[in-house]
Amino acid sequence: MAERPIAADLLISGATIITMNAGRQVLRDGAVAIKADKIVAIGKREDIAAAVSAKQTHDARGFVMTPGFIDGHIHITGDPLTRGFARGAPGEPPSAIMSRWVIPIFRTHSPSDEAISAQCAALSMMRHGTTCFLEAGTITHLDAVMEGLSTTGIRGRTGEWVEGRAYDPAEDQEKKSADAIKVLESEVARYPDKNDAKLAAWPVLVGHSTNSDDVWKAAKSLADTHNIRVSAHMSPRASDPEWFLAKYNRRPLEHLNDIGVLGDNVCITHLANIDGSELDVLVETGTNAILCAHAAMQGGFGLSQHGLFPEMIARGVNVMMGTDGLAADILGAARLMAYLFRDARADQKIFPATMILELATLHGARAMGMTQNIGSLEVGKKADLVLHDTNLPEWGPIFDPVLQLALSAPLGAVHSVWIDGVRVIADGRATLIDEEKLLVDARQAGAQIIARTKLPVQTPWPIL
Ligand SMILES: [Zn+2]
Repeated sequence: MAERPIAADLLISGATIITMNAGRQVLRDGAVAIKADKIVAIGKREDIAAAVSAKQTHDARGFVMTPGFIDGHIHITGDPLTRGFARGAPGEPPSAIMSRWVIPIFRTHSPSDEAISAQCAALSMMRHGTTCFLEAGTITHLDAVMEGLSTTGIRGRTGEWVEGRAYDPAEDQEKKSADAIKVLESEVARYPDKNDAKLAAWPVLVGHSTNSDDVWKAAKSLADTHNIRVSAHMSPRASDPEWFLAKYNRRPLEHLNDIGVLGDNVCITHLANIDGSELDVLVETGTNAILCAHAAMQGGFGLSQHGLFPEMIARGVNVMMGTDGLAADILGAARLMAYLFRDARADQKIFPATMILELATLHGARAMGMTQNIGSLEVGKKADLVLHDTNLPEWGPIFDPVLQLALSAPLGAVHSVWIDGVRVIADGRATLIDEEKLLVDARQAGAQIIARTKLPVQTPWPIL
């Protein structure tokens, strides 16, 4: 028997593999060989079996394999422990809900609460096949969060909450900006994004109007210098354009472009309320757009009426999907976006199944500057992969795994997940953390957070 030249730690074989490689090859009865954190061989099972000598094997017959999914926008603190708590009183506008309810809840989290919250978010993402995420810039206790995340095995980029805008004229704007910039510089220095770091900090801004031009410029300069990315919220509703027009007589993306802080290392979330000139800015600058379909639909952003995402994609803007923490499955987010715009434009053909999978994988990798490592299953890339269970009535016989996974597979039917070659989910359960203890801790912490805020628990119907 000929010598098998490729040494591997693990050989996963028999799956139908949706590679997402340049030729978008789908391998029936495929195999992937992993050594340490990388893919060292991928192809048809017979060919790989002949070429690879592996320490361990994993039988993946009956599964569809994809690259790990990428969530471009998620609040891993604030929401996971308290999402069952109703925020807002009747008649309150969105801005009041934010200041009276949402922000106090976020700010009441202790370091330990945030660590538990981040672990819950990571667990929930991994259980749905997400292996890499971009956090939304609302972490208060970054060190505790990073420590918590490091126990889960997930890949991600996070940022500490900075607000460098002095809304009150009595406040010292210069000092406020300087303090915010110090936080950005410190987090990037403490959690550098180099040597293939699994977790790192980026200058993630809350966005909207919360930061001064100086903070935006500092964030962009950090991204340029360290080869990392800036992310921020902008224009979910008309209130951001109204604010920027009143202050600068420019729409938000026009203003950000005026001050030179857009570019292909910038990712902006929501953008549900932009106009044609802002679309031009996105195209010209190569800025990435992050769409959170659940947030748009739950929050009533009017995306179906005036969202320009089909136009963005048609003009080459890279669009990445986010859940905003309102769902765990990024595939579901991409599916929802496709359905929303198919209906809004009365066009069954826009956002086909193939694009749904691209949105969940390759587009995310591109937005995060990680195409060298993630987004597709190819030799040399990170072993971040997912096995989707097809032994379910919703799958039936598999004629087209791409169409079926994108459009009709049950969401969250994820059996196993590897990140950096480590199996973090097996049979739908975490392997590195104690799930039961985490959920007990999470329930306890959540109840205590709400008690400390002294906000009232409200339910529409009496609970007896
Ligand atoms: Zn958000």
